[in-house]
Amino acid sequence: MIRMEGIHKHFHDLHVLNHIDLDVEKGSTTVVIGPSGSGKTTLLRCLKLLDFPDQGTLSIAKATMTFTSEAKLSKTDIRSIRQHTGMVFQNYNLFPHLTVLQNIMEGPVIVLKQSSKTAKDKALSILDKVGLRNRADYYPHQLSGGQQQRVGIARAMAMNPEVLLFDEPTSALDPELVGEVLKVMKDLAFEGMTMVIVTHEMGFAKEVADQVVIMDQGAIIERGTPADIFDASTNERTLQFLRKVN
Ligand code: ATP
Repeated sequence: MIRMEGIHKHFHDLHVLNHIDLDVEKGSTTVVIGPSGSGKTTLLRCLKLLDFPDQGTLSIAKATMTFTSEAKLSKTDIRSIRQHTGMVFQNYNLFPHLTVLQNIMEGPVIVLKQSSKTAKDKALSILDKVGLRNRADYYPHQLSGGQQQRVGIARAMAMNPEVLLFDEPTSALDPELVGEVLKVMKDLAFEGMTMVIVTHEMGFAKEVADQVVIMDQGAIIERGTPADIFDASTNERTLQFLRKVN
């Protein structure tokens, strides 16, 4: 479903992604972990083309783009990559002046040109799924952080993406609110949603991931099943990171 080949990204002199090769299978959950500053968020942002790689090839579903320093990027190609993914951000990024329902309907009505009725019906069924149908007419400030993040997930789902990208979706939450968000993500994983998740929740990674990817200093230093990584890794940098977070 996703293939990154030889992806590089610099911010000025900083080599933030250094030859990333990554495959994500349809219906699988990939969890990306690693020390602060290792490039995890930049990796996700390059998958959504919120940042552009300087080199390499990115394929998502049937769309492919190759990046070089010379190539001018085509807006059509960018759109065709972006439409396959939905992103969930650490700080929810909800529109504060819109209700929960309006937040979820906005993308489908404006971007996908759905009728209000179609978008509303879909939004309500997704709200059912994330357990927030009774909050449809609330504004974001009337919700807890966990509820706001569940709306963030619902909003991404409303665009019918084939892949959901999560950037530390529970990092801004009080500990007692983390579980309700992870539960929604777990349900999505078990239903076969393709997901790439940057998180520090090691328990979630162990339980839900099909593939765990360890990043350090802009590179993928190791990847494997949770058992490969958490029980059997012999990579010194992986072990050092796991010792710190456990
Ligand atoms: P964390 O776990 O702390 O969120 P991370 O692994 O997600 O870190 P990134 O946010 O991808 O790491 O950042 C990787 C490096 O790139 C860091 O050194 C960061 O300061 C730098 N960086 C990220 N975005 C930019 C930017 N827009 N301009 C310049 N440098 C940036």
